[in-house]
Amino acid sequence: MILGKYSFGIGDRFCHQGKAQLAAVMKAKEQGLNITPVWNKSHREHTIVRTRPADTRKEAVDAVAACRWDGPYFVDADHIGLGNVDQFIESSDFFTLDVADFIGRTADKVDVDSFVQKYKKYVGSLAIEGIEETLNITEDQIAAIADKFLLAVKEARRIYRHIAEAKGADNFITEVSMDETDQPQTPVEMFFILAAVADEGIPAQTVAPKFTGRFNKGVDYVGDVTGFAKEFEEDLAVVDLAVKQFGLPENLKLSIHSGSDKFSIYGSMARAMKKFDAGLHVKTAGTTWLEELIGLAMAGGDGLSIAKEIYAQALMRFGELCGPYATVIDIDTPNLPTAEEVDEWDGQTFASALRHDQSCDQYNLHLRQLLHVAYKVAAEMGTRFSDALRKHEEIIARNVTENIYERHIKPVFIEHLPSSGRQKSQGH
Ligand SMILES: [Zn+2]
Repeated sequence: MILGKYSFGIGDRFCHQGKAQLAAVMKAKEQGLNITPVWNKSHREHTIVRTRPADTRKEAVDAVAACRWDGPYFVDADHIGLGNVDQFIESSDFFTLDVADFIGRTADKVDVDSFVQKYKKYVGSLAIEGIEETLNITEDQIAAIADKFLLAVKEARRIYRHIAEAKGADNFITEVSMDETDQPQTPVEMFFILAAVADEGIPAQTVAPKFTGRFNKGVDYVGDVTGFAKEFEEDLAVVDLAVKQFGLPENLKLSIHSGSDKFSIYGSMARAMKKFDAGLHVKTAGTTWLEELIGLAMAGGDGLSIAKEIYAQALMRFGELCGPYATVIDIDTPNLPTAEEVDEWDGQTFASALRHDQSCDQYNLHLRQLLHVAYKVAAEMGTRFSDALRKHEEIIARNVTENIYERHIKPVFIEHLPSSGRQKSQGH
């Protein structure tokens, strides 16, 4: 299975918005841009929402049938490891092998030595097409990288082999993810990680590094935008070179686990993609769940009551909900409105506070982050929440589609690409 040049991970916590999400991808197609939709959901999300991987498959199949989508699509077992992959085998055809926990565990000295032997031909300055600076590489650095990452890559091989034995190697897409870790990977590290990925025989089509800066949940990037742009370009160039040098799949590309909504870096990502004629996978998660809340609020009546109730609960259960996400949220509690204040709001005010429109005075990124991690509260409401989603489907769907198309697909894939790039992407 081959993943197209441009693909979009439309994570959907509650498995209700498949059609509305696909509608955004179809809008892009009307503009001449082919994007492969990928429904991603992690074990953690399934556990909290109490859904199963088969539910995500059903969501995708139903959406594809309802929208008469005739292009490829995938279902991504997001951030899985050996311990939980089995329950995803049947329903998924895209596997994100999360080996972040194995980074930094000391590798076997014999393995490190043979890695250094094999790759010391790169010692010196490595000029890479498209990057101004040359990368300086020392033997010690190669050894340090091997020591830090070899075990993680070997673990990825173990998971990959396990899936390949169960499904057949040609029946799924492989992503290797290293984003949920403390330290970003440098372009030089990426280069040798990809060498190890090739050595281990993992046919990765996407790789998700950790980038410099804060990628908080549901809100914009926090960090040096220019620095990010440089790092991103270097990573694209390194991927290009690694494909040629190590014989990795030709369509290997970066996967951005954005935590959704990194608007301030979308422009530099798009420009870099254009410069290197590179593909990209953008993986989002909670952004659709927040549009469900916005839609419920805008619907007024029972919908707005549910939205307010979830916020009040989230405030009360702040520690419990934020704990698992502590490293990827920054909430200033004094900037959170009280439950009493929110209770006075009309639907429009609630929607404006939550909607990710930085030009709007009412937008509150603290409230947005809190609600981003509060989907557990909605999950606990059970059928009351899902019935409301069904009842107010129309207004929710409108928000879901607009959010994905206008705020994500357009700035990343459409606005900065020349029309020739759009033509070229056709036929995937
Ligand atoms: Zn991730």
